[in-house]
Amino acid sequence: RELQRFSTVAALDEPITPPVRVNYTQLLINGKFVDSASGKTFPTLDPRTGEVIANLAEGDAEDINRAVSAARSAFDEGPWPKMTAYERSRVLLRFADLVDKHNDDLAALEAWDSGKPYQQAAKIEIPSVARLFRYYAGWADKIHGLTVPADGPYHVQTLHEPIGVAGQIIPWNFPLIMFAWKVGPALATGNTIVLKSAEQTPLTALYAAKLLHEAGLPPGVLNIVSGYGPTAGAALASHMNVDKIAFTGSTDTGKIVQELAAKSNLKPVTLELGGKSPFIVCEDANIGRAVELAHAALFFNQGQCCAAGSRTFVHERVYDEFLEKAKARAQRRTVGDPFQKGIEQGPQIDSDQFEKILRYIKSGIESNATLECGGDKIGSKGYYIQPTVFSNVKDDMPIAQDEIFGPVQTIFKFKELDEVIKRANMTRYGLAAGVFTKNINTANTLTRALRAGTVWVNCFDVFDAAIPFGGYKMSGVGREKGIYSLHNYLQVKAVVTSLKNPAWL
Ligand code: NAD
Repeated sequence: RELQRFSTVAALDEPITPPVRVNYTQLLINGKFVDSASGKTFPTLDPRTGEVIANLAEGDAEDINRAVSAARSAFDEGPWPKMTAYERSRVLLRFADLVDKHNDDLAALEAWDSGKPYQQAAKIEIPSVARLFRYYAGWADKIHGLTVPADGPYHVQTLHEPIGVAGQIIPWNFPLIMFAWKVGPALATGNTIVLKSAEQTPLTALYAAKLLHEAGLPPGVLNIVSGYGPTAGAALASHMNVDKIAFTGSTDTGKIVQELAAKSNLKPVTLELGGKSPFIVCEDANIGRAVELAHAALFFNQGQCCAAGSRTFVHERVYDEFLEKAKARAQRRTVGDPFQKGIEQGPQIDSDQFEKILRYIKSGIESNATLECGGDKIGSKGYYIQPTVFSNVKDDMPIAQDEIFGPVQTIFKFKELDEVIKRANMTRYGLAAGVFTKNINTANTLTRALRAGTVWVNCFDVFDAAIPFGGYKMSGVGREKGIYSLHNYLQVKAVVTSLKNPAWL
């Protein structure tokens, strides 16, 4: 009975009609919506019910060929890399304005396709997409090389040139944000793109690409191929005419993508993969705030975040108080239809993820972790799961080592700083970490000792466009966002010119 006390505020059996229509279902190649070469289609499903939202053109290797050849021509002959950087930045700025204008429709499509709360998409995610494009629009005309002093009568300069045709493969958890992180810097630096969206969430990439064309993007510069990973995704990663590949998704698929890239034309690869990020609450932390942020760090987006604070380490002196409050907070979490106001948690993305999370919960119970609350599915339709908290978790349990990607918080007790550093780093991942303390020495020690691409101190999930993001260890290769992402899409060319009769000789 105790376990049933989470709040479900919406009637799950009667889904609310989304305030948007699906207008684009074909592939976008060379500026035109077209059917797939095979004529095949695939369904995208509503995670609230498992029912079909729309059938989309299913791209495969042949469509990737068509899209790459459009991107190649747009790069080699087309106006994009030859336009002035200022003109390119104006296209990105106009697009950002259109994203603002279409915010509600984009948010509704995103919520419908992925199950995330509409308010979260409308207030946080879509505005962050506009922000990111404005950020990279600002960079477009500030990219330049250097004049390099050489030991001899030479004028040496470096040119920072676009890399060419970029292949981009994105996941389903933040469809339009992932689109932005990849497309924004690639366009700002003058590249052309073939992007494969995730098969679970193909709708917003097509809508956004249409808006980019409305903003003045020439045909062929951005091509969108919806479809599956082993067909369309693999064809893109192994294409001989693609100059770079950027991927976000699971570590297992990241390995496949890197191998395909290496075996084809050795194209450079950036990978943003999974995580098992520690969230460390020291004895001097503000416990109320730490509880709330640890809750958000794990449960945000139904727990489907690569950076999720999925191992909550709490100092033994504050452990009991923290646990009681964390459990109460999880039980207060509002689960329901993503279009209902006040909802914090919608359904998981699909039946595969739903079943996988329930299997992990079962494994936690079987390995004798203590189930504090939740632990079951909700309702008979769709993929809703109770906010779940485990305590008494041991470091070597599967729920402590694997990426669950669901609303399951695992809480650990620690005593010494050295001990928690060792345990926090005891994972194959290294994406992010959170540190809660008022002591600057403790904060400095932890920020240096944790092997993670981001360490948030007394905050979590701060994802500004200017802040680089990426992983240590098996969480990835390279960084996205900020100035760092520009380098992913640039080649450096050294131009060495012999000087005749230099003035100083
Ligand atoms: P995935 O890695 O299989 O899919 C991500 C993208 O890669 C999708 O667009 C997919 O179509 C594509 N893909 C799949 N197989 C491919 C292949 N052989 N070649 C090229 N592209 C391919 O991830 P998933 O199955 O959607 O989710 C599984 C797990 O991945 C999740 O449980 C979670 O642990 C992790 N995940 C991580 C992130 C992240 O942001 N780091 C995002 C989504 C999922």
